[in-house]
Amino acid sequence: MGYVYDEQNIFAKILRGEIPNNTVLETEHSLAFRDLYPQAPTHVLVIPKGPYVCFDHFAQNASEAEVIDYVRAVGEVCKSEGVEADGFRLISNAGKDGVQEVPHLHVHVLAGRPLGRMLARAPE
Ligand code: AMP
Repeated sequence: MGYVYDEQNIFAKILRGEIPNNTVLETEHSLAFRDLYPQAPTHVLVIPKGPYVCFDHFAQNASEAEVIDYVRAVGEVCKSEGVEADGFRLISNAGKDGVQEVPHLHVHVLAGRPLGRMLARAPE
């Protein structure tokens, strides 16, 4: 099974400039922008510019330049958002069980309030 990238997903449209975004950082291979429906005082999405569906797709196929740029972009966002002092969470949902809504890789950078447990415990 291979991932198939949907060129019509909303982040592809953002990258093509077809819909607006609130940019936090743009680099050669990455873009970071504020989530439209923030779930914490800091809620930034960091995406690669290349057509990658989710984290493993990217990690298995992206060039070293893209990988380095992307990881550094997350680091830059953490720095500019000042998340170091009180902590933060990175989330990257994938697929059906990961409840991924937009099929273009994104890391959520969440901070600014206590974020609770990583996952709700499943009922026993
Ligand atoms: P996920 O469920 O991990 O795929 O997350 C998708 C995220 O994209 C959600 O947190 C949405 O609020 C966010 N989102 C959807 N459309 C936009 C948009 N046009 N600009 C910024 N964030 C968006």
